[in-house]
Amino acid sequence: MLRTLLLSALLSIVLLAILTTVDAGQIVNDITQINPIEVDRIVVPKSVTEVRELVQSYRGPISIGGGHFSMGGQTASEHTLHLDMRGLNHVLSFSPEKKTITVEAGITWHMIQETIDPYNLSLKIMQSYSNFTVGGSLSVNAHGRYVGQGPLIGSVKSMKVVLASGELVEASATQRPELFFGCIGGYGGLGVIVEATLDLADNVKMKQIVEHMPVTAYKKYFADKIKSSKTAIFHNADLYPPDYDRLVAITWVETDAPVTIPDRLMPIRNHKWLNQLGYYWLTEVPFGRQLRERVADPIRLHGDVVVWRNFEASRDVSILEPRTRDRSTYVLQEYFVPVQQFDEFVAKMSKIFVRHDANIMNVSIRHAGPDRGSLMDWAREEDFAFVIYYKQGTNEHEKALVGVWTRELIDAALSVGGSYYLPYQLHATEKQFHLAYPRAREFFSLKRQVDPGNKFRNKLWDKYYQQPETKE
Ligand SMILES: Cc1cc2nc3c(=O)[nH]c(=O)nc-3n(C[C@H](O)[C@H](O)[C@H](O)COP(=O)(O)OP(=O)(O)OC[C@H]3O[C@@H](n4cnc5c(N)ncnc54)[C@H](O)[C@@H]3O)c2cc1C
Repeated sequence: MLRTLLLSALLSIVLLAILTTVDAGQIVNDITQINPIEVDRIVVPKSVTEVRELVQSYRGPISIGGGHFSMGGQTASEHTLHLDMRGLNHVLSFSPEKKTITVEAGITWHMIQETIDPYNLSLKIMQSYSNFTVGGSLSVNAHGRYVGQGPLIGSVKSMKVVLASGELVEASATQRPELFFGCIGGYGGLGVIVEATLDLADNVKMKQIVEHMPVTAYKKYFADKIKSSKTAIFHNADLYPPDYDRLVAITWVETDAPVTIPDRLMPIRNHKWLNQLGYYWLTEVPFGRQLRERVADPIRLHGDVVVWRNFEASRDVSILEPRTRDRSTYVLQEYFVPVQQFDEFVAKMSKIFVRHDANIMNVSIRHAGPDRGSLMDWAREEDFAFVIYYKQGTNEHEKALVGVWTRELIDAALSVGGSYYLPYQLHATEKQFHLAYPRAREFFSLKRQVDPGNKFRNKLWDKYYQQPETKE
């Protein structure tokens, strides 16, 4: 009897090791390549049972990663067991009639699109690119360019989470709501999201409308033409560096016109030299930016384009990838500003960019409705989001310089009642973090209840959770 027990225990330990260990590397990094973090081991669980066994049996801290597109160490911490969730990537159930889908958390938006596109359905809310995982997107409470929609939480019916105890719980707005509103936007701090049920929308044809204008005209343009539109689906405006006084507004409106691009989805592939050349030109060539409005954009945005919603929603981030990230890298930041404070923030932001000679490639402006109540919500009211794409050096000196202007931008957003986004570099002071996320202490108190041993860690929570929260 004892022999059989011992043998089966030994067998399950060996099995666990064989099933889960796939990566011999010990470094977890993100797309920017400037945040290498040495972890104890990387595992790719293939089932919820495996996740539960790992969480229960591993004595040390655990970190969680999806696509690893967050840019400040949010996916790892030193000496953790790193769960790479991309092995949990299946569709579990799909109801075209109810327009809902239940998926494992490591699946990417693009994989879901491949399943739902033949039924002419589309994701209700997601980011601008399709490479992100559902778990990673829920954990940052992502948003896209959707007109009239707020953050991703607005499309989540329910989800399943593995807690630090190994317990598997279901959470929705009505069932274990504290976990639902804590885990969405919770950056893996409360548990491992293993499944989610999401609302879908119709995949319709959309026509692109392009309008150029001075930045001072945009707030009224958005209120009059876009917000009230019954047909606008996607909208964003690109603010032109280096003067930040003009922008191009791009809106995709529903149409019955025939598509001009018949493809249903964009392929995920490596886009090479043409895009790299374009970004090099923007960031390195004198007057490269000035030529964008007059030369590059008229070519890029030319003609009457009609596409499927899924086509526009299935963009591949590799289109942005530089030839190398050794000496410099492309990075994102994002600020949320109440709609009424648009002009004031643009003026403050532009001054900071100019004063610090920041190498800004683009500022994409989007609109977001308020959050449904997540603890770490970044949109407490109707906001404009400013997504800043820039180039920086990879050495410590350059990182420190970026830290200076980032903190100034955070102050600028806070000064107009706004906030900043957490998936990017961790430059914010603790005070700025708490001002931007006033319910963080509620989140920390929930973490102490469901994860008393601080099992789930990463650089974001190491920085803001470990310190005494009362200190201001
Ligand atoms: C080019 C680019 C464009 C972007 N565009 C947008 C945009 O339009 N809108 C927007 O909102 N954001 C945008 N982002 C940010 C992006 O949405 C986030 O970085 C998102 O987290 C990426 O998903 P991921 O799968 O890579 O998550 P990861 O970076 O792998 O993880 C993000 C966080 O989620 C946690 N996590 C991951 N999986 C799980 C899980 N299963 N359970 C619990 N915790 C988990 C991780 O620990 C980490 O804290 C963009 C980023 C890039 C690089």
